[in-house]
Amino acid sequence: SSGSEENDVVIIGGGPGGYVAAIKAAQLGLKTTCIEKRGALGGTCLNVGCIPSKALLHSSHMYHEAKHAFANHGKNKVNYVKGYGKFISPSEVSVDTQEGGNTVVKGKNIIVATGSDVKSLPGITIDEKKIVSSTGALALSEIPKKLVVVGAGYIGLEMGSVWGRLGSEITVVEFGPDIVPTMDGEIRKQFQRSLEKRGMKFLLKTKVLGVDTSGNGVKLTLEPAAGGDQTVLEADVVLVSAGRTPFTAGLALEKIGVETDKAGRILVNERFVTNVPGVYAIGDVIPGPMLAHKAEEDGVACVEFIAGKVGHVDYDKVPGVVYTHPEVAYVGKTEEQVKALGIDYRVGKFPLLANSRAKAIDDAEGLVKIVADKETDKILGVHIMAPNAGELIHESAIALQYDASSEDIARVCHAHPTMSEAVKEAAMATYDKPIHI
Ligand code: FAD
Repeated sequence: SSGSEENDVVIIGGGPGGYVAAIKAAQLGLKTTCIEKRGALGGTCLNVGCIPSKALLHSSHMYHEAKHAFANHGKNKVNYVKGYGKFISPSEVSVDTQEGGNTVVKGKNIIVATGSDVKSLPGITIDEKKIVSSTGALALSEIPKKLVVVGAGYIGLEMGSVWGRLGSEITVVEFGPDIVPTMDGEIRKQFQRSLEKRGMKFLLKTKVLGVDTSGNGVKLTLEPAAGGDQTVLEADVVLVSAGRTPFTAGLALEKIGVETDKAGRILVNERFVTNVPGVYAIGDVIPGPMLAHKAEEDGVACVEFIAGKVGHVDYDKVPGVVYTHPEVAYVGKTEEQVKALGIDYRVGKFPLLANSRAKAIDDAEGLVKIVADKETDKILGVHIMAPNAGELIHESAIALQYDASSEDIARVCHAHPTMSEAVKEAAMATYDKPIHI
């Protein structure tokens, strides 16, 4: 259906934020329309993000979920309009449909879930051939001999790992002093060492001034971030992974007066309402961690508020995962953050080398680190470098959510032999002593 009758909820964007919000709205009995320009649901995450980057390429899971969920809820419950949405008023969206027509979708509540786009750098034009974004890096037609990654965030390191494993020589150039700045410092150091052992080279505190693509490959002109002598670095392909930027082009936000910050992110209150009543925003297009699971949580909570229920997202407890090998996963505060807050704390650590399962499968690089309040033993942050760290992190996420102490984790019986025992032993090490070291 065109969705021309008034909807309870209209959602612009069918990424993990938007499509999850649409399903939840339908489950709550709201008349819902979802507008998506790409012609395929799943957004950045499914099409050019999390999923293809993880499997290079089994785009199975989210695809299956999105398809399956829409088959179940889609019929009369979620209208799906394929096309580009644009505000004409706070309750009307004009859609240039993929078939070429135009339709107006009306809603009492409109959720902007338009996500984010690749950010370029001054002096660098992305052509998706020699100078690629993460999207182009997912689809290189041959393995580059030399790949230079600009930006040492998780996307650059994941894509660098993929191509490194396939035989490319990887050099990561980063302006800042550290790779993945949101990571705990001690874990980061070990992580960087691990990547270096696998052949990845790092040029930190280094600025890319420009690129020359006139020859066969690419010549990058570099300069120390603090100033100094210029150098030239050669590459076959350059991946620019220097962050993502909120995507609101063509939405006509200014027409209805929706406020954004300097970075172009839409400003919302704790109920995801913008300064314009009835207009909401979720996911990568608002401030907060730019992650698929955070977008999904936003979507559910936003729709719950619209339905008169209470929604809840705690941005301090959103897990972060880097899907290299070993993986790095973390939730809560880093030791540096705790220190900066002036909190007295204890640290407990346990190396995977002392974990029987990790040893048995000969995959024992990494550690678990727990930061807890010195006085109360309340867990403040958990940081894991391990194979499957992205799975191991969730008992800690629950612990954090329930204000657990490290002793609470330590006293829970963990199955043997599992890597989860390393979490238990790190918890023991936090308030007392571990057993196996
Ligand atoms: P998006 O997924 O960007 O979806 C927005 C959708 O809105 C798009 O489909 C777009 O076509 C549509 N749209 C935009 N404007 C309009 C309009 N005007 N009309 C109609 N439709 C419109 N996150 C993780 O949590 N884990 C990961 O492992 C991970 N890996 C990543 C790897 C890569 C290479 C990249 C690029 C990102 C990765 N991310 C990962 C981040 C994740 O993809 C995003 O956080 C997530 O997709 C944000 O969801 P969203 O719904 O806010 O926006």
